[in-house]
Amino acid sequence: MSSNTFLVFSEKTSLLQELLGEARRQAAALGWKVAAVGLGKDVSALAELGADVLYQVDVDAHNPELVTAALAAAAAQAQPGVFLIGATKLGMEVAPRVVERTGAGYAAWTTGFKVDGGTGSTIAQCMLYTGTGVATYHFKPGTVILTAAPGAFEAGPAAGKAAEVVALAAPAAASSMTILEYKPKPSSGARLDIARLVVDVGQGVKQREDLQMVQALADLLDGQLGCSRPIASDRDWFPEWLGLSGAKIKPDLCLTIGVSGAIQHIVGIRDSHLIAAINTDEGAPIFTQADYGVLADLYVFLPALMERIKARGVRPSWMP
Ligand SMILES: Cc1cc2nc3c(=O)[nH]c(=O)nc-3n(C[C@H](O)[C@H](O)[C@H](O)COP(=O)(O)OP(=O)(O)OC[C@H]3O[C@@H](n4cnc5c(N)ncnc54)[C@H](O)[C@@H]3O)c2cc1C
Repeated sequence: MSSNTFLVFSEKTSLLQELLGEARRQAAALGWKVAAVGLGKDVSALAELGADVLYQVDVDAHNPELVTAALAAAAAQAQPGVFLIGATKLGMEVAPRVVERTGAGYAAWTTGFKVDGGTGSTIAQCMLYTGTGVATYHFKPGTVILTAAPGAFEAGPAAGKAAEVVALAAPAAASSMTILEYKPKPSSGARLDIARLVVDVGQGVKQREDLQMVQALADLLDGQLGCSRPIASDRDWFPEWLGLSGAKIKPDLCLTIGVSGAIQHIVGIRDSHLIAAINTDEGAPIFTQADYGVLADLYVFLPALMERIKARGVRPSWMP
């Protein structure tokens, strides 16, 4: 039997805030409680993010086996109606394991859900076929675990009061692995979540040095750089990729530069207010998605564009 509680977890704070925002909006309408899970010794910063209760489990957040055990312990304690887990690499790895431990219902890549306050049953919409379709699932009353990617929900305002912190016993010797080394990828510091303009770099940009030109354009318009996955994973230029497995953005303008427009990438940028694309290939799928298309070589077009912007003193409304 589940209780009238939303439980929320992500190791990524910005995503946790988005999931908490949605949980709080729905909890306010239903008269439910919102609980979150914080891993590690010091979870004081998480207590300020909007949960009523924060379950603290002191485990290594890099070990998926221990994280699974910690989340299962929190679920056993909270008996949530809905347990939202951030669809990060870690979240997607542990969520099905927690489902297996708890016997909960499960759906991945949720874009929306609603709980029937009367029956306690949940209806969830989830992305299918890398975002080209949507499936709607009706769950019986009981705990449902849903994963949601960054950008699926909006963060809410600060709660105004700190959560009650409840320490749960760390799962004893639940892991068969020892992590020898953990190397976080250096971040470029780009704030894609709040950027009004994102300059989206694709493989049409040939060399790493050419990023300087793209960065100069972003600086001129007070924008941030994002990229396609091969730029981040194959070329290792910078880590902020957009798409199915990357960030989902909603800026005023997304300016794609040498991006072909594969569906896995489009999933990350399609909520932009405007998309403008620069590409040399008339048949590139990005042109079917963009509001404005420029059929041009980026190496010719970008210098000319920047020259015009400077000459005309173009200044987007969001610049201070
Ligand atoms: C399971 C799975 C998940 C994936 N998840 C993601 C994801 O989250 N995000 C993501 O981005 N990808 C993802 N991918 C990869 C995706 O399918 C594409 O391979 C990738 O997005 C292509 O990146 P791109 O557009 O930069 O490169 P390309 O497809 O190589 O396109 C480069 C484009 O640049 C143009 N171009 C070349 N030279 C110039 C020039 N001088 N001026 C202007 N234009 C030029 C070309 O015409 C071409 O259209 C995923 C794939 C799989 C299988």
